[in-house]
Amino acid sequence: MTRCTFAHIDLDALQSNFRTIAGFLARPRGAAPIRQTPPGIIAVVKANAYGHGAGPVGRALEQAGATTLACADIEEAISLRDAGVTCAILVFGALSVSDLAGVFDHGLTPTISTPSAGRALQAAAAARGVRLHYHLKIDTGMNRLGFRHDNLRNTLPELLESRNLVLDAVYTHFGTADDVAEPLFGDQQARFGEALRTIAALGARPPALHAANSAAILRDPRVWFDYVRPGLLLYGFAPMPEPQPADPIALRPVMTLTSRVVAVKGVRTGEPVGYGARFIASRPTDLAIVPAGYADGLDVRLAGRGSVLVAGRRVPIVGAVSMDMIAVDVTGLPVEPGAPVVILGRAGDDAIDVREMARVVGTIPYEILCRIGTRIERVYNSA
Ligand SMILES: *Cc1c(COP(=O)(O)O)cnc(C)c1O
Repeated sequence: MTRCTFAHIDLDALQSNFRTIAGFLARPRGAAPIRQTPPGIIAVVKANAYGHGAGPVGRALEQAGATTLACADIEEAISLRDAGVTCAILVFGALSVSDLAGVFDHGLTPTISTPSAGRALQAAAAARGVRLHYHLKIDTGMNRLGFRHDNLRNTLPELLESRNLVLDAVYTHFGTADDVAEPLFGDQQARFGEALRTIAALGARPPALHAANSAAILRDPRVWFDYVRPGLLLYGFAPMPEPQPADPIALRPVMTLTSRVVAVKGVRTGEPVGYGARFIASRPTDLAIVPAGYADGLDVRLAGRGSVLVAGRRVPIVGAVSMDMIAVDVTGLPVEPGAPVVILGRAGDDAIDVREMARVVGTIPYEILCRIGTRIERVYNSA
């Protein structure tokens, strides 16, 4: 039995998005430097592939030609390996001491973002008699992880001299690539350039560089370097604020969240609906009850603001979002129990996507996707 609220994950759309991004990278425009080969793609599948299911998504991306996946921590990387992913896996996050063995046991590529992590990995690699390939992260102004861009002459020599560590790539991460009004993006580019000159002066020759998340990919070909790191684009959305003049790249949403009406009932004028009596019917009202609530990832702020598509028609969510259900106003519509409900996705000419839902509740599309609940079954089409 499948609960009637479930997420459909379109792996064909995912693979198509991967190829669309590759195609976009193959035809640089504007200020793009002339290059022999387009940048490679490090496909970001952290946070259970943005809620889509890391195993099936990782396998489908590998099948589509991805040669490197990236995730947040070692546990995520191991679950990708357990799902059968064989390509390179870059771990973005900081490693704790207890994680060190996993890097070697599962053939992972760690990010080194502190001198102490470098020391610990060098010791662990030496103890095993192996050479470990790693990516070096430079903090150019986000002030989270990474070696500070302005102190590399002090912090890097020991790492670069580590005999058992092999530098595969140097990277940084942008804090404001989606905001053209914010000057930090340009500052970070300049600092990354300066950091690369310092690294060269210290005698290191990193074979590859990368910096661009989805927003930076769309914004500026000068930061594409050797690899780009799309996350949200793979799942079908440009991370730009709505409304956009035109989608700069034609992507397909990968996740659709659907349900069915489980009950229909009428309330009289003046009667309340749901917790807190937040909604009072101002006229005789027909309600449809949909079995999806905040435990499924529907934000409580959708109450009185959000909509769903019932039998192809857009209808408002009324009253509070409960743990397991919502009520929607279907007055005047021929809705019966069992009628199809689209919470995220398309029905007829209308569609509700994560950008719309994020705007309605005052968050970002990333959060909507990542919070789709664990009890929601993900149903995959074959890739
Ligand atoms: C999450 C993440 C990305 C992908 O970001 P999107 O905005 O989803 O493209 C890229 N790089 C790093 C380091 C990340 O943590």
